[in-house]
Amino acid sequence: MKEFDYIIIGGGCAGLSLAYELEINEKLKEKTLAIIEPREEYKKDKTWSFWRVTTHNFDDCVKKSWENFSVNIPKKTNHLKCANYPYQSIDSGLFYKKINNKLKENKNISFYRDMKEVNSKNSFIFNSVPVIKKDHRNLWQHFCGVEIETQNNFFDNEIFNLMDFDCDQRESVHFFYTLPYSKTTALIETTWLSKMNDSSQKDYDRQIKDYIEDHLNLKDYKITYKEVGAIPLFYPTSEIKKNKINIGTAGGMTRLSTGYTFLNIQEHSKYICQNIENISEVKKFKISKKYQILDNVFLRVLEKNPEKMPDIFFKMFKGSPKTVIKFLSNKSNFLEDLSIILKMPKWTFIKALFY
Ligand SMILES: Cc1cc2nc3c(=O)[nH]c(=O)nc-3n(C[C@H](O)[C@H](O)[C@H](O)COP(=O)(O)OP(=O)(O)OC[C@H]3O[C@@H](n4cnc5c(N)ncnc54)[C@H](O)[C@@H]3O)c2cc1C
Repeated sequence: MKEFDYIIIGGGCAGLSLAYELEINEKLKEKTLAIIEPREEYKKDKTWSFWRVTTHNFDDCVKKSWENFSVNIPKKTNHLKCANYPYQSIDSGLFYKKINNKLKENKNISFYRDMKEVNSKNSFIFNSVPVIKKDHRNLWQHFCGVEIETQNNFFDNEIFNLMDFDCDQRESVHFFYTLPYSKTTALIETTWLSKMNDSSQKDYDRQIKDYIEDHLNLKDYKITYKEVGAIPLFYPTSEIKKNKINIGTAGGMTRLSTGYTFLNIQEHSKYICQNIENISEVKKFKISKKYQILDNVFLRVLEKNPEKMPDIFFKMFKGSPKTVIKFLSNKSNFLEDLSIILKMPKWTFIKALFY
């Protein structure tokens, strides 16, 4: 069996982002890399969206970018600007194609379906397959989104809707998310922040149909694509080994309060690439401790007071959107953190900390 300098387990977002970063920075001229990926073919399976607070390698895979967004609760809408940090949506189909075309050019990079096909004894391993223990207490962000096409112009494609809480909450936290790509096409997603043991929230198709037809009052449309997903709002367990680093969701790259992961994966890839020569010696890349602590408090509040969350999210976006975006994208300074914390209902947060 062949030996490799590096092995990436999982050729998804994190595995391919890292391989691409290493390749374009010429770190694989003298080194060999095996990517272990069981999927038979790459096709669009996700839409990755985020505020562009930092540069990344995939501007040419952006499907659409917005400088305006809205957040709403019943009877109240907040229109916000994000021209400083546009919100971008990446088409995973374009992302997979771009990276795989590039990786194919280097004979030092090989793809395998299973770890059993390679000798990993002397390799450095980057693992993106999370170990998720079933625990009914864990919170998840679970969702289903459909891309639709309408006969006539319907959407305002200059503004996207980040959170629409004007919907059935079922004693949980539920909102719709709409990304209008053009006047006739949009991604519409039903999103829940909850424990996954409640199957009564999984009637996604019905929720989306009712939202489109009754809430948006749109009857003439067709569904062209569908994605279903669940993002753990907790850190997967990971074994500590000197020759192994976890990346992606497995590597704790998800912001627990939001589910945003894509840009953290890109920053992690850059960090690994910059330090690849002595990767087993350098400090592990992590989302800053302050966000881990604040997100944990936030999730405790969410778990104990789901009925208060629409108002809490709505209030968070009152004031400077730039500050909130920086906070949610791990780029805020102390004063910006403080301004967000001061907007939160103090007693609810204090109680969540101690009870
Ligand atoms: C539908 C969906 C939409 C999302 N949207 C956003 C978003 O808008 N913004 C954002 O920031 N984040 C988003 N996320 C969260 C996060 O960015 C993605 O989950 C992202 O794909 C995580 O990258 P990853 O490499 O950790 O996992 P994945 O991309 O899932 O890659 C893991 C890879 O491992 C492979 N694999 C599985 N088992 C094995 C095995 N035993 N051996 C080897 N390989 C294996 C899988 O086939 C897969 O290719 C979304 C998640 C989902 C599921």
